[in-house]
Amino acid sequence: MTKKKNIALVAHDNKKKELVAWAIDKASLMENLGIYATGTTGRLIQEAMQRPVTRLLSGPLGGDQQLGAKIAEGEIDLLIFFWDPLEPQPHDPDIKALLRIAALYNIPVACNKASADYMIHSPLLHSDYLPDDPDFTDYTSRSTPAG
Ligand code: PGA
Repeated sequence: MTKKKNIALVAHDNKKKELVAWAIDKASLMENLGIYATGTTGRLIQEAMQRPVTRLLSGPLGGDQQLGAKIAEGEIDLLIFFWDPLEPQPHDPDIKALLRIAALYNIPVACNKASADYMIHSPLLHSDYLPDDPDFTDYTSRSTPAG
């Protein structure tokens, strides 16, 4: 049986409208996916799609970090993150950390509509495909300078 995949949706304020419109347009392709989202994005998506969303804290209040933790724990299969390239964000370090964790754990990330389109239409998303688990053996077996 195909494992149910979970998608995470996050959008900065100037990008929320675009993400909500995208999610409505792609609703049928997300029917079999669990949806996670940061607080405000999640509320808007839930209202627009009329379906349950696992809502975390708002991004600037720790939601990006919560999402990063869920990625590290293997709960999230792909991340759609419409971040705003035109406006500085107060939680910039958290955003960077989220993108770092997604790269580290080999999670597909879409940062704009075109990449989200490619990802959501990928046959891999709707198959048994699971990306390779990252191998941290070399890292974790390093001896520390002190030890
Ligand atoms: P929000 O958070 O969905 O609560 O607005 C998104 C973010 O800014 O990371």
